[in-house]
Amino acid sequence: MKFNYSKSNNYDKDKMDLISDIDIIIDEKVEVCDTKILPDNFKAGQRKLYIESYGCQMNFSDSEIVASVMQKHGFGTTSNVEEADLVFLNTCSIREKAEQTVRFRLDHLNSLKKKKPELIIGVLGCMAERLKTKFLEEEKIVDIVVGPDAYRDLPNLVERVDEGDKAVNVLLSREETYADIAPIRLNSNGVSAFISIMRGCDNMCSFCVVPFTRGRERSRSPESIVQEAKDLFSQGYREVTLLGQNVDSYKWAGEANKKETDLAIAQGKPAVTFANLLEMVAQISPDLRVRFSTSHPKDMTDEVLHTMAKYENICKYIHLPVQSGNSRVLELMNRTYDREWYIERIDAIRRILGEDCGISSDMIAGFCTETEEEHQDTLSLMEYVQYDFSYMFFYSERPGTLAARKYKDDIPMEVKKRRLQEIVDLQRKLSYQRNQRDVGQVHKVLIEGFSKRSQEHLQGRNSQNKVVIFPKGKHQKGEYVDVLVTDFTAATLLGEVV
Ligand code: SAM
Ligand code: SF4
Repeated sequence: MKFNYSKSNNYDKDKMDLISDIDIIIDEKVEVCDTKILPDNFKAGQRKLYIESYGCQMNFSDSEIVASVMQKHGFGTTSNVEEADLVFLNTCSIREKAEQTVRFRLDHLNSLKKKKPELIIGVLGCMAERLKTKFLEEEKIVDIVVGPDAYRDLPNLVERVDEGDKAVNVLLSREETYADIAPIRLNSNGVSAFISIMRGCDNMCSFCVVPFTRGRERSRSPESIVQEAKDLFSQGYREVTLLGQNVDSYKWAGEANKKETDLAIAQGKPAVTFANLLEMVAQISPDLRVRFSTSHPKDMTDEVLHTMAKYENICKYIHLPVQSGNSRVLELMNRTYDREWYIERIDAIRRILGEDCGISSDMIAGFCTETEEEHQDTLSLMEYVQYDFSYMFFYSERPGTLAARKYKDDIPMEVKKRRLQEIVDLQRKLSYQRNQRDVGQVHKVLIEGFSKRSQEHLQGRNSQNKVVIFPKGKHQKGEYVDVLVTDFTAATLLGEVV
């Protein structure tokens, strides 16, 4: 068998694979976030919308809701910005770099608008919510500013711009879940799809801007989630990922508003928990894989782990961001758990789901006042857990957050970057070791399509969320195959169907 890949002992090549697979910021030129563009889907005579999404999966998912809202009002989508009548940037505020990227993009769009003055430019998402009307003052080419809870209002806002005004709606809601809007899956491989099960976040981690940009936590009705998953399955999808900032705190007792949900539960009304929801989705079909993200260490229950163990089609992979391995830093971060608590949760995963369960994390290097010893605690925790992979960042102060108000961002940039590099280097070693364990084992792989680098090879994921590449034979996307892993890089498993 011949692969177009370097051998697994090619360390530099492995490093490159890993760096392109995990979102890292080491030097200023490396971009943090993924960007996605919705492809062509328009009829003759329709006004054309071009949407570019930055940041997390939640944003990509929201853009599909935006496309659906706009389509109902007669707009089609285009992947060619030059032919668009409307350009929407769905933005991310999580780190300074993410915001800079959007500013650069707006500079580019400026030249387009000069050629085509009737072009409407809208800024959506977290950056819109954070900056509100200030955006219109700072970026003259922007016509519409709309926050994550106001997408139903977009057609009205466009109408206002058509009439010659600028338009802003950044109202946050305690109830909006867009439960009744069927997202247009324009960005999908037709095999795996994302379903938002909740919105917002009530956690107030001190470094994080999300509670300010996405508002209060609220859950979506389980019926609407299960129906969406059933519809996807009947359209040929074979994997759904349930999305939320903190999926373990999902709960439903007949009310979207969390305050009312908590009250109803206190009064004895039965509630659907995240473990219940997982089970409901897993029962749709054994051929529908279920994933979820993100789990919060303070809320992840044994009940969820036992539900995962009970159903083969709930993937054995948990993204459990730790952020830091030191209890003092975790307290400053307001994560509400300490190192011991986190280790106990990892032990529970290993006890209930075994050594093969995939575990990944998010890490922040150089948070306010972090000492060298405390940084070493992060490294030793990584060794303890043996993460399969991690998303690694250095701390970026965000205006308005608790940390920005209370603590000095006092770790010099070169120290932050050096600590981040140490975390990245260790993760590379751990990923390599974890992948080495898979050699000689057979993995059930859901095929997602052709490998990025060869039409002769297919790629899919195993239950642990690792990419597996193998010669295509007569197989097709959407099929499950058993693959014997014969080789690996730090980012990918290589093998053959058995
Ligand atoms: N809700 C998820 C959780 O609690 O794990 C994560 C949401 S956030 C969109 C994704 C990751 O970005 C966080 O886990 C954290 O590692 C990172 N992040 C958030 N704020 C950051 C900041 N100010 N500087 C650097 N990284 C940050
Ligand atoms: Fe941000 Fe913490 Fe909420 Fe995650 S749990 S979105 S890090 S506040």
